[in-house]
Amino acid sequence: MKTGISTTLRKLLPLCLPLLILAGCDSRPQVTGTRFLAFGTLVDLTIAGVSEERSEQAADILEQDFQQMHHAWHAWDPGPLGRINRLISEGERRFTAPPSVIPLIELGTRLSVQSDHLFNPAIGNLVDAWGFHSNDPEGHRPPDQQVIDDLLKQAPRMTDLQLNGIELLSSNPAVKLDFGAFGKGYGIDLAIDHLRELGIHNAIINAGGDLRAIGSKNGQPWRIGIRHPSGEGVLATLDIEGDESVFTSGDYERNFEWQGQRYHHIIDTRTGYPARGTRSVTVIHHNAATADAAATALFIAGPERWHEIALRMGVSHVLLVDDSGNLHMNPAMQKRLQLLESDGNIVPSPPLNTTQQTPATR
Ligand code: AMP
Ligand code: MG
Repeated sequence: MKTGISTTLRKLLPLCLPLLILAGCDSRPQVTGTRFLAFGTLVDLTIAGVSEERSEQAADILEQDFQQMHHAWHAWDPGPLGRINRLISEGERRFTAPPSVIPLIELGTRLSVQSDHLFNPAIGNLVDAWGFHSNDPEGHRPPDQQVIDDLLKQAPRMTDLQLNGIELLSSNPAVKLDFGAFGKGYGIDLAIDHLRELGIHNAIINAGGDLRAIGSKNGQPWRIGIRHPSGEGVLATLDIEGDESVFTSGDYERNFEWQGQRYHHIIDTRTGYPARGTRSVTVIHHNAATADAAATALFIAGPERWHEIALRMGVSHVLLVDDSGNLHMNPAMQKRLQLLESDGNIVPSPPLNTTQQTPATR
């Protein structure tokens, strides 16, 4: 287990506390918690019903899994995804893609199309221009308007890529893949599969407040906390049993200030600027990759369009906090939430009549 925690990661520590407080303070011996670093954040693994020793072994295995995934899917390092991005930018139109990246290209394309390209993992160059590829964008400033206009004109989309077996065809050198909006979710899905292979069926994998839970806590539902959009404290609690993922995208996660205005890391692909109108979105879905992508997409869709995009993405439970603090949610979500800290109005939406299994899920 890692012991050294960098300054950036220490700053992230409080974000993990809500879950720890709610799920980790149970003193029954069958519930064990371990913590390691992955995807630049702290991952809390809580396991019920197995010994502490097995739980720690599982944490070590998962830590290695996450390290491999982080290497394979890092857009800016010279690993497998870095190589794809380099070849695309050099104008290569046809080359072999490393198998570790292919499932993410396939799933990312499906989710992007479903979201009407609001979730668009092809916009790595925009993310780059804004400086949000760095964990700590403090000190950055907005890019020149000309840079944004040029990138918007080149309109990189996942559909500019085509897979033919392991061959990747690119028709747009402006595509730069950044899996930051759903790679963590996909990684958690793989890690849950691995836990099950290890015979562990009651667990939560919580990466900085985004999580997937399976089974139960010794027969009781897992109780988790949803972060307040201020980034501090708990907005609501939620009971989970069975197999569900809860992902939140918020403007507090990564941002910088320039000339008195705050700029956050979720880019509206229509304007090239950080999306406006939303402070945070929480999505529940069976599959963590879909929940992760949908939280990002619905954040950009905002109070006007989130319902339509949620339907398109097959998401059944959504909470959106708008920039006036109003809580938009569908009735199924309202039923599930125990609100703790909010003075915002509840704005109920029509139901989201979806089945959770959509073609986009694995
Ligand atoms: P999340 O915190 O899951 O909402 O993901 C945000 C991260 O995804 C950012 O730090 C960027 O790396 C990347 N990103 C930003 N805007 C978009 C977008 N519109 N579509 C896909 N990825 C994005
Ligand atoms: Mg996301």
